[in-house]
This record gives sequence, C-alpha cells and structure tokens, in this order.
Amino acid sequence: MIDTHAHLFLPEFANDLDEVVQRAKQAGITKILLPNIDETTVAPLHQTVSLYPEFFYPMMGLHPLSIKDNWRGQLTIIKTYLDEKQYVAVGEIGLDFYRDYGMPRSIQEQVLETQLEWALEKGLPVSLHTRNAIDRTIEIVSEYAKKGLKGVFHCFTGTYDQAQKILDLGFYIGVGGVITFSKVKLGEEVIKKIGLNGVILETDAPYLAPQPRRGRRNESAYLKYVAEFISKLLNIPIEKVDKTTSENAVNLFAIPPTDDIGQDT
Ligand SMILES: [Zn+2]
Repeated sequence: MIDTHAHLFLPEFANDLDEVVQRAKQAGITKILLPNIDETTVAPLHQTVSLYPEFFYPMMGLHPLSIKDNWRGQLTIIKTYLDEKQYVAVGEIGLDFYRDYGMPRSIQEQVLETQLEWALEKGLPVSLHTRNAIDRTIEIVSEYAKKGLKGVFHCFTGTYDQAQKILDLGFYIGVGGVITFSKVKLGEEVIKKIGLNGVILETDAPYLAPQPRRGRRNESAYLKYVAEFISKLLNIPIEKVDKTTSENAVNLFAIPPTDDIGQDT
C-alpha cells in the first residue's frame, strides 16, 4: 500500500520516526508521500526525506490555512524550492472556507491558481485540500485540467456527484480514516458507487486516525484499517484494494511501481 498523504515531518513524530517507519513497513506500506505545509516546514520535510530517501517522497506547496499577509513572499520561497529540487507533486494546496478561519477567499484563490500554474509548468500533479469549498475548487481546477493538469482531492468527503465530476476531470479521490467514522455515511456511499476507480489511500497523519484508533495520533501503519474497511465495504480481498489503489497512486504521481521496492528494509 502507498500512503499518499502523511505529514511525518511534524513535531508529533520527532521522537519515534524510526518506529513509525518500521510499523508502516510491517503493515505493508511501501511508500509514503509527504505534502509540505508552508515555508516553516520545508527544512523538517527535507530532513525527514533524507532519512529514508527510498521510502519518502516529498511534495512542495503552500497550504491554504498557512497563507499570511506576506503571501507573495511565502510563494516566492515555495517557488524557489520547486525550481531547485525534485518533488512528486505540488501540495498541499487548496481552499479552506470553513468558518472563514483562513485568509479572504479571493487571496486563497490567487494563491491556489498561482500554484496550479506552477504544477502545469513543471508537469507535476497537485494534492488538493478543500474544506467547505469542493464545488469552487472543482470549478477552478477544471480550467487547468483542460490543459492537462492532474491531481487528487485529498481527504475527500463530498457527494457522489462531486466525486463523479472529479473523476471526469481525470483527477483522483483520496480516501483516509474519515471513511471509517460511523457517522460519516457519505464517503461509504460514494465508494460503494464508484468502486476503486480513481481512488488512492492516505492517512493525513498525524490527523484523522481511522477506527479503531480514532482520537489518537494517526500514523501510516493505520492505513491498513482504511484498506480493511474498504475491502469489507466492497466485499473484495484486501489485496485487491492494495493493488488497485497502489497502481492509481503510481500512475498519478509517477513514482516507481511497488514491485520495484521493498529491498531497502
Ligand atoms: Zn494534509
């Protein structure tokens, strides 16, 4: 399995990263993709990747909730890294309109569009964060999808119609611990209808731990609970969930196929 979204460079993992990695490998995780958050997390991100270069794959971007008044300066820093180093995606980027905690919508949209342009220029996919903003994000991204942009709506919790629109754009749907929360039936219904077509797995560690670990620090090993949940939901073997979602992730992020690795342990 590939954990396509985990923030293992955050302080939550500073004391036991090695064990977190060992547990992930034991749980069958073969790669972990690490989306950046903002200019302050770049150094820990790179440091973390350097510890397990065959296992961790970094993304570079500015998260919508990290946008500050000096966002132009923040974007300049992010762009410098994008130009200098190798990343598997531009992320995590997007729109967060939840209770207007973030910067004004117009600024969030400018920051998003700037980074979508960069992704197109670099031929990289994007990892999208959306909260209370799926329709607007789909609307904006549609224009870029026409020019060939690909990406994932990470931690998808939308409706079947929204999922269908995303798949029609050639984008992917990121499914994580939220699908295992008993009160969230939406995600279940969507997966029952669309199957694994265009679906990739993710933890969003340290956030959103799945049942039965809900409420604790999330980590990549817990991806197995998400895979198990989907396997029961669709009544298919867990190996099939692993294979299909891993192939989807390899296609989207142009990372080496799972069969090629595993010798690095
Ligand atoms: Zn995230």
